[in-house]
Amino acid sequence: MTVRTGIGIDSHRLAEGRRLVLGGVTVPHDRGLQGWSDADVLTHAIIDAVLGAAGLGDIGEHFPDTDARWRGADSMALLAAAVERAAGEGWRVAYVDATVMMERPKLAAHKAAIREALGRALSCPVSLKATTGEGMGFVGRQEGVAALAVATLEPAT
Ligand code: MG
Repeated sequence: MTVRTGIGIDSHRLAEGRRLVLGGVTVPHDRGLQGWSDADVLTHAIIDAVLGAAGLGDIGEHFPDTDARWRGADSMALLAAAVERAAGEGWRVAYVDATVMMERPKLAAHKAAIREALGRALSCPVSLKATTGEGMGFVGRQEGVAALAVATLEPAT
């Protein structure tokens, strides 16, 4: 069977007065992620993984931050659009594995809800992992949050 894999990586800065949205779920925290759209760093990494596996370029080409339509956008809607565009190329998402790199807060209590929300949008099983920066780099200093994702696509026959 032919399968394709794609990788996605993203990072966003932590800022006051913003919500921390990960995989479409608002995680309670004293700061949130800055960016156009809702800055859902995890969903952005998954979008890039899906687009990459489908050979469709990257998130910036599909949903440019110069386009007022995407300002404050729900990234889960962008993910649904990316899945649809992959389907247009004949691909279905079979599996997604993702890791969030974040010093605080701990993600354990929210993992199940995030996996469920992402699984609904992707119609496939989702693996979610979390790690910290051990106090090093922008993640460790709590300046930002990063995410990595790998998507596996199979023919949508
Ligand atoms: Mg992003």
